[in-house]
Amino acid sequence: MKTVLVIGGGITGLSALYELQKWKNSNGTDVRLVLAEASNQLGGKIRTIIQDEFVMEAGADSIVARKMEEMTLFEELGLGKEVVYNATGRSFIYSDGQLKLIPEDAVFGIPASIESLAKSTLVSAEGKVAAMQDFYTKNETFTKNDSIGSFLEHFLGTELVEKQIAPVLSGVYSGKLSDLTLASTLPYLIDYKEQYGSIIKGLEANKQKFKGGERKFLSFQNGLGSVIDALEEKLADAEILKNTKVTNIEKNSSRYQVFLNNQEIIEADFVVLSIPNTAAENLIDDPDLKNEFSRFKNSSLISVYVGFDVPDSVLPADGTGFITANTDELSCNACTWTSRKWEHTSNSGNLLVRLFYKNSHPSYASLEKMEKEELLEIALGDIHKSLGISATPVASEVTKWADQMPNYLISHPKSVEALESKMAADYSGIILAGCSYYGVGIPDCIQNGIDSARKIIQTL
Ligand code: FAD
Repeated sequence: MKTVLVIGGGITGLSALYELQKWKNSNGTDVRLVLAEASNQLGGKIRTIIQDEFVMEAGADSIVARKMEEMTLFEELGLGKEVVYNATGRSFIYSDGQLKLIPEDAVFGIPASIESLAKSTLVSAEGKVAAMQDFYTKNETFTKNDSIGSFLEHFLGTELVEKQIAPVLSGVYSGKLSDLTLASTLPYLIDYKEQYGSIIKGLEANKQKFKGGERKFLSFQNGLGSVIDALEEKLADAEILKNTKVTNIEKNSSRYQVFLNNQEIIEADFVVLSIPNTAAENLIDDPDLKNEFSRFKNSSLISVYVGFDVPDSVLPADGTGFITANTDELSCNACTWTSRKWEHTSNSGNLLVRLFYKNSHPSYASLEKMEKEELLEIALGDIHKSLGISATPVASEVTKWADQMPNYLISHPKSVEALESKMAADYSGIILAGCSYYGVGIPDCIQNGIDSARKIIQTL
């Protein structure tokens, strides 16, 4: 009997296993399906924590709704009725000691009309004049493989980019704008520049596309962990081994010997490697492979939730959070007003906020060494300074994600290609999968899990 071993019980590995189990059941094929997960629970970067009246997410908190439209997974898992959507609202940028609204009619902070630019309180008159160049210049040199930072600065000026666009965009795409390509972020901007002669005019002409659609996210009444629990329940025909870390993989003629931390060995015909690149590179003793893995980069983040016995109406009406513009003012990069944005996260309507501390912030080096209690104190300081709230918290959750946020550098597609061809040549039967390579969003991970399973099914 053939054995398929999935290493890593995050959403990618679970989706792969689920697809394999569906095939096994519909085909009646005798195949052994095993999943090894290092932690004592499944889910990886999806982990819901329910504390009294609050629903908190240690990692991912929502899913882009549009990307799930073609998939039936949630219905198959019986979760259709539990889906909840985010409340839309306005976002602020914390700058010069104040919360300032991001102008209406802006897409990721980029003005989508001349009025939006004119009304901005984030940019000086000089900055606005500089941005007007967008209407009079032509794109002669930039391609989609250039950095989005230099493209935007060239046409819209440095001040608008630094004060209004970069805080939003680098938060969404987790990286410095100078390190991100147009292709991997907003490729349509270059088409707009071409077609309409101006980025601002292009966004204005395509406004409908950005209304609501881009902002529609979903979760579940009891948090994203519901997907993980439902998958675990469905996976009755697979062996799920928790607290089981894979320590080494060795090739043994046509099979693989997979060594576990409990001294057991699994002989597998196929292996799905749905673990982060940092974990994968330690499993196979091959210097060439290590070299390929070393091209991938990750950043770090600390997430802090704080719940108060205070109604969330203390916050500005319609607001759902802020982004920090100047790193010398606050230690956090951003703060989501979770109870506002997600009604299901606070039974009583009391205030629940989430602060993000990223390694792009100069304070991060000292923050990452701190204990959770100290980090909570830092968060309370930021909350007091930005929101004026000094109440005692009634719930809190601090999670460190050290080196766990993949950065899709300009070189990313080439690095994936090189690693894939090395694997295909020397380790056929081991399938690379997951957020380190094929997209970080949960829908991408689900699709990649399914695709990985299908690759194996084809040869089984
Ligand atoms: P992981 O979830 O990393 O799973 C890998 C699993 O492998 C883990 O369970 C780990 O314990 C296990 N493992 C590692 N090494 C071994 C080993 N040697 N042996 C056995 N098991 C091992 N995406 C969204 O779509 N929306 C969001 O709102 C969002 N927010 C995010 C917020 C944060 C703070 C983070 C960290 C991520 C966020 N993401 C979001 C991204 C998304 O959560 C991830 O890309 C996705 O969940 C990754 O799934 P995965 O299965 O590929 O990997």
